[in-house]
Amino acid sequence: MTDLERKQERTPVPSGWTYAPAPESRDVVQLRDRYGHFVGGEWLEPKETYPTISPATEETLAEVGQATSEEVDLAVKAARGAYENGWSNLPGSERAKYLFRIARILQERSREFAVLESLNGGKPIKESRDVDLPLAAAHFFYYAGWADKLEYAFPNRKPKPVGVAGQIIPWNFPLLMLSWKIAPALACGNTVVLKPAETTPLTALLFCDVLRQAELPPGVVNIVTGDGSTGAALVKHAGVDKIAFTGSTEVGKAIQRELAGTGTKLTLELGGKAANVIFDDAALDQAVEGIVNGIYFNQGHVCCAGSRLLVQESISDAVIEKLKRRLTTLRVGDPLDKNTDVGAINSKMQLDRITELVEAGKEEGAEIYQPPCRLPEKGYWFVPTVFTNVAQSYRIAQEEIFGPVLSVLTFRTPEEAVEKANNTPYGLSAGVWTEKGSRILWMAQQLKAGVVWANTYNRFDPTSPFGGYKESGYGREGGKHGLEPYLKFDSEAFGG
Ligand code: ADP
Repeated sequence: MTDLERKQERTPVPSGWTYAPAPESRDVVQLRDRYGHFVGGEWLEPKETYPTISPATEETLAEVGQATSEEVDLAVKAARGAYENGWSNLPGSERAKYLFRIARILQERSREFAVLESLNGGKPIKESRDVDLPLAAAHFFYYAGWADKLEYAFPNRKPKPVGVAGQIIPWNFPLLMLSWKIAPALACGNTVVLKPAETTPLTALLFCDVLRQAELPPGVVNIVTGDGSTGAALVKHAGVDKIAFTGSTEVGKAIQRELAGTGTKLTLELGGKAANVIFDDAALDQAVEGIVNGIYFNQGHVCCAGSRLLVQESISDAVIEKLKRRLTTLRVGDPLDKNTDVGAINSKMQLDRITELVEAGKEEGAEIYQPPCRLPEKGYWFVPTVFTNVAQSYRIAQEEIFGPVLSVLTFRTPEEAVEKANNTPYGLSAGVWTEKGSRILWMAQQLKAGVVWANTYNRFDPTSPFGGYKESGYGREGGKHGLEPYLKFDSEAFGG
């Protein structure tokens, strides 16, 4: 038994010292009972609907449309019409004005969006308020700046828009992923049909209100809601010139198969199993904060989450002890409470998947630690979890859990750290914690990951490209790189 465990046995959870509730008011959000699809600037009455819920309470928030292939077809036609009726020929400086307007309106209405994001998705309000919303607005601001400078970004290559972009996004950062997709597409002169994830459609539907407020021409952005079958209908549609997908590797592979040989442009941002590597010279308290942020941020529903902790053997006991102590201070519960650190799991399906993998971890022989924690009775919850004594072959070290579950492995030398970190089919992100600048640079060269964070984790910025290697996908979002998937280039500019 470690010192910490002995102490915990002696000390019951201090009930008198919990934080007083600090709930954010829901009044700022006005929900309708029922939503249709946003097509050609109008609400299209859906043929079929399904309820969307709050994962923290299981209450139904609204009925939303389950788009059929006919409804997807109407949305693609609206996007094509808007593309041909002027949007693609609008000067970049004019397109930029709309993007700037959208960014400002998102800032003005950020509280409303943050509350709705937490209600529908289960993430803590302090994250939706301080991370999702500011970054979503920043993305529109950033790409607004590029809209009239494409010729400078790609000199002598005559950049032109691709056409109609079909965009399919996941449920972990609903509004932020919408911004990552829509902002560069519009900046480059494309029009869009976007499908939010089935469990988190509400901020995308509220965003339609922003589009109207910004007076974006009808049909430039169309939003259809529904499950995977709606996404599949969008992928199959012959009128779509480019698909941008963020989601699971399994669905990404299916989309790639579907589009092979069609000429439709494709970018995929898929799963991950990132290594967060802690060397013995790292600032340990900072590293522990980085580990916590790396895996418990957004309940671990993060494709680039630092889900495999690789810690140098000489400091592993100290790091694990500090980490366990830190876990006892994480507050799990009501996403709308401003003190909450870990909110609700996004869906019953995801909770079942996390539970299955955690059971597999126990069966395979890893040692589990979960801090004492009272979970709400209703809704979907999972206690922040750490597994130690994990072997590389265990499912919890290989498969993406997409939940608040960390697997700890150790290493002795930098070479071993690299080998273990790269021992995964994925390659989205990694973290390195060390005081040595030269080691950071060496590690960044060795790690097969699209993003390598040094002495920090989960840090995002619209100017910085993001994307994967191997089964984590291809194409980059963010930065100047994020413009390319939405442009085609005139090869004649090279005389070829
Ligand atoms: P996860 O739920 O793990 O994030 P998914 O890949 O299942 O990953 O979901 C991501 C997005 O892809 C969602 O919007 C979902 O509705 C959509 N989707 C699911 N299956 C398909 C499919 N066969 N074709 C296109 N989109 C799909």
